Amino acid sequence: MVISRPRGTNDFLPDVTGKWQKLETMLRELCQQYGYKEIRTPIFEETELFSRGVGSTTDIVQKEMYTFNDHGGRSITLRPENTASACRAYLENKLYGQVQPVKLYYMGPMFRYEKPQAGRFRQFHQFGIELFGTEAPAADAEVICFAWELYRRLKIKNLQLKINSVGCPQCRPRYKQALQDFFRPHLDKLCASCQDRFERNPLRILDCKSPICQEIGNGAPLIYDFLCEECSEHFAQVQDFLRAANIDFELDPHMVRGLDYYTKTAFEIQVASIGAQSAVCGGGRYDGLIEELGGDHTPAVGFALGMERIFSALASQEDDLTVDDSIEVYIISAKNKQLKEAAFALASALRSAGISAEIELGDKSFKAQMKAADRLHAAHAVIFGEDEFAKGTAAVKDMINGGQVDIPIAELTVYLQAHRAQ
Ligand code: ATP
Ligand code: MG
Repeated sequence: MVISRPRGTNDFLPDVTGKWQKLETMLRELCQQYGYKEIRTPIFEETELFSRGVGSTTDIVQKEMYTFNDHGGRSITLRPENTASACRAYLENKLYGQVQPVKLYYMGPMFRYEKPQAGRFRQFHQFGIELFGTEAPAADAEVICFAWELYRRLKIKNLQLKINSVGCPQCRPRYKQALQDFFRPHLDKLCASCQDRFERNPLRILDCKSPICQEIGNGAPLIYDFLCEECSEHFAQVQDFLRAANIDFELDPHMVRGLDYYTKTAFEIQVASIGAQSAVCGGGRYDGLIEELGGDHTPAVGFALGMERIFSALASQEDDLTVDDSIEVYIISAKNKQLKEAAFALASALRSAGISAEIELGDKSFKAQMKAADRLHAAHAVIFGEDEFAKGTAAVKDMINGGQVDIPIAELTVYLQAHRAQ
């Protein structure tokens, strides 16, 4: 029996990996322009990093982690996200000792045990940036600008940027109290998860997807009436910077990250056209996280985006990630040991000269080789025939413009270098 890949995972075949590489190149270019440097952390970490760093009350930690004991009896977890690891690495490698802010990016596979569906996988890929060491509102705006610029370059349509402030440990307790007072009379009508959230995490009730919780939540008090002066001023400045950069946004007072170490700015980018899994990017400020992981107080802001969801968004519109996979030269030869060796030598010489070349490795007919040259969209075909070979030449056929010339075998590489298709 053939073994299948695990549920919720994908094989990315050559027809799509080219697009992934283009997206990755685009992301790396943006990072270079915005001054973010790559960090690569382990795919697995000690489980405690995530229970502390993502939060033991979150869905990720309660239901979605791939956790196992290794042979040494340690509890290990496949990373469900990369922010906690980036913070750990920042502390462990004493990056706080470098000039601040420290600007890092990552990309790679993440693992969550979720119900697989369109846009939701168990192994998926995230790209994200983290900016450590500044409280400045311009940092929040820069991070949002980065994400916005990426989707602009990808020409993704129907984008919506939603921003909010979730306050800080000074002002949030009062808001929590107000929310609990508001939801208490409706407690028995809330969904089971929200009844659970009521004590620990009432802010999360606001972004519950259940229609009943949403309807009840509509009348809830707004955080804007509870923000302390510092948070309120910070939020206003983030908005000013976004306006200065001409970025359209909407305020969404119900978009929350309910954990104590999330502070001030929260944002999300959605693409309306991709259905239920419309969130393509989420981020915000987490001034309390580094402390939660044992470091000194270190303000930080960042985002993570789902790379698969970029492709879902692009699938519904024409995109610029189409890959030109044509080759430059296809070498054809008659079935003759000497000719085949000359053809083989030319393939090596062309590749050494940086020219992409393909050659029939077996004994396919002349006609089949000609067909292969067409199928691979070769710009030139070099044909080693018996008669030409006797004269020390081979025919070079221009597959784009037509026409054929005989070129001395010793000069083929130079000729093809000089006649590369643009
Ligand atoms: P969702 O509400 O869709 O579950 P999330 O709040 O769990 O998202 P984050 O943890 O903020 O998402 O991750 C950032 C981004 O990673 C999301 O906006 C989404 O694009 C992507 N993402 C999250 N989980 C998955 C998954 N299981 N499969 C594919 N992409 C995902
Ligand atoms: Mg999720």
